Amino acid sequence: MIDAREAFSEVASQYRRFERMVATGMGLFAFSVVLASLWGRMNGFFAAIGFLGWIITVASLFSLPRLACPACSKRIDKPVGDWCPCCGQRSLSGSTLSGRRKCTHCRRSMPNRQKGRVQKIRFCTNCSAYLDEEGL
Ligand SMILES: [Zn+2]
Ligand SMILES: [Zn+2]
Repeated sequence: MIDAREAFSEVASQYRRFERMVATGMGLFAFSVVLASLWGRMNGFFAAIGFLGWIITVASLFSLPRLACPACSKRIDKPVGDWCPCCGQRSLSGSTLSGRRKCTHCRRSMPNRQKGRVQKIRFCTNCSAYLDEEGL
């Protein structure tokens, strides 16, 4: 197992910043909608907050870093390799009919290859490099 935490920390912090920005943008947008529905109509101020939230959300999408492994430079957000991205064991089952794979070690089921991404990525699924302590 390669310890790639230091090389990955830059991507991890970029990704966490991206998630915070999306949460802020969506929060502002929802806030303006709730305020407007409580008020009974959408006034300029609420519309401005909602618009700002929308801008932040869209802008943050452009700052989405590519989630790649610093050791093998392959994508890490899809459970396509041999190793479990969560526990780092070589224990991923083959694809089931639904396209979902399961880890026989930590018993997590992985999202479908096309849809969604693995939550709490700690290891590279392709080369088992150690990427992040908390999980991204
Ligand atoms: Zn596992
Ligand atoms: Zn890798």
